[in-house]
Amino acid sequence: MIFTNVAEATERLASPAPRTVLTGCPWQDVKAMLREVGLRPTRQRMALGWILFAKGDRHITAEMLYEEATKAKVPVSLATVYNTLHQFTDVGLLRQVAVDGSKTYFDTNVSQHHHFFVEGENALLDIPDADVVVGKTPVAPAGYEIARIDVVVRLRRKAP
Ligand SMILES: [Zn+2]
Repeated sequence: MIFTNVAEATERLASPAPRTVLTGCPWQDVKAMLREVGLRPTRQRMALGWILFAKGDRHITAEMLYEEATKAKVPVSLATVYNTLHQFTDVGLLRQVAVDGSKTYFDTNVSQHHHFFVEGENALLDIPDADVVVGKTPVAPAGYEIARIDVVVRLRRKAP
């Protein structure tokens, strides 16, 4: 079980991102989405946003997005991809899911839900919210409240 840094999460929760009503034109949708959260729709943000959000809910790492951008002939560096993903996360367009110290996924579905992580396949799957039973919630330190509980359930293939 991974507990998000509470102070940071609380701050993020204070300004929930309004989700843009989709117009059916992904390019216009991305532009409206960026404007709504106060990010200037630069060429790079637009291109990366379009790759991220035009295909429905997904989980993606910075490396995966960089690869897709490169294939789509979007001239960006991996550093720019990282920065953009973190900017999108800060304004609530993405949710960060840390699987372990080295692997961070970005989720385009920012609603409350938990994840399966398939070990060895590096796949992150949504768990329908109703299916998760969280045990006793820990008591937050004085002055804090629990903003969110992220559960990552690790899966491995059964031996044949
Ligand atoms: Zn998810």
